[in-house]
Amino acid sequence: MSKKQYRIAVIPGDGIGKEVMPEGLRVLEAAAKKHGVALHFDHFDFSSWDYYEKHGQMMPDDWKEKIGKHDAIYFGAVGWPAKIPDHVSLWGSLIKFRREFDQYVNLRPVRLMPGVPSPLAGRKPGDIDFWVVRENTEGEYSSVGGRMFPDTDREFVTQQTVMTRTGVDRILKFAFELAQSRPKKHLTSATKSNGISITMPYWDERVEAMAKKYPGVKWDKYHIDILTANFVLHPDWFDVVVGSNLFGDILSDLGPACTGTIGIAPSGNINPEGDFPSVFEPVHGSAPDIAGQGIANPIGAIWSGAMMLEHLGEKEAGKSIVEAIERTLAERTLRTKDLGGNADTTACGKAVAEMVD
Ligand code: ATP
Ligand code: MG
Repeated sequence: MSKKQYRIAVIPGDGIGKEVMPEGLRVLEAAAKKHGVALHFDHFDFSSWDYYEKHGQMMPDDWKEKIGKHDAIYFGAVGWPAKIPDHVSLWGSLIKFRREFDQYVNLRPVRLMPGVPSPLAGRKPGDIDFWVVRENTEGEYSSVGGRMFPDTDREFVTQQTVMTRTGVDRILKFAFELAQSRPKKHLTSATKSNGISITMPYWDERVEAMAKKYPGVKWDKYHIDILTANFVLHPDWFDVVVGSNLFGDILSDLGPACTGTIGIAPSGNINPEGDFPSVFEPVHGSAPDIAGQGIANPIGAIWSGAMMLEHLGEKEAGKSIVEAIERTLAERTLRTKDLGGNADTTACGKAVAEMVD
């Protein structure tokens, strides 16, 4: 039993974020009780359209003081495009967290769950179970570049990829550590060094250097084009897949898409050293089309809670939630409408909470 009490900042945000988060908290409380983990939740109403309407900004000026000392941030969804453009809501909240809290890892599981139809024919639960690790702070998404001679025939546009040794090494270290902690101990690196002739060979070089520090981890690399094909053709080949910001972005959407609905996919934006809080949130958005109806699938939020517990070091409690999700999804009557069931958000959340052991 852990003696430490974890302080969690809870931010439900907009739309179905407000509906799925209570279920996530219900399940976290059940797992905490069963496993003797002490969780303390502080609730915040900012990072939402309601807050913006009242205050003219997404978050208070002292947002960093309010949540910067918490052990983690548990987040619902942000965005209400009918009222506020997505770039304002996103850049005013989640992107600020990512940058100011140096969340340089984006982590998503790719795991086929029972009761969830995969677009890949013939795959069964257990066949697909891996992680995508995306570099979240540099690489192709730098703002270095520019446009010359606009609106002329000589128009000339560039944008540079920026890779730093610190930036590349720290994401690779995270990925190798993760691979080492898993039974298969296998890491795959996404590259394109046959076409991108300066930055990608550097990435490959750093992978090779890092691999020497993890002799127990088997590793390989694929060019991004064939790697995406193999996600679809041979998802069983993978265990931990690491990619630069752009390649990781593509893989971290493709992977979960191969294993079913957006309603169940979780994610973490992580600062592994724990110098700053990490954010755990479902992949889905605020889903204005179904908000307020009580039918949203809460599994994405619940699974994100499990990832949060694992990040905090409470592995058993986290695992108990993932297993409870699997047992719940196996029963049609406990699944929400998007998965062909007839349970509402609360019924599904309660079912998972009861299954936790
Ligand atoms: P983003 O926030 O990335 O802009 P989006 O707003 O385009 O995403 P979502 O809000 O994720 O998209 O919704 C996409 C579709 O998936 C919508 O039709 C929505 O109803 C459905 N959906 C999303 N999340 C869930 C969920 N938890 N349960 C059921 N359906 C969902
Ligand atoms: Mg949206």
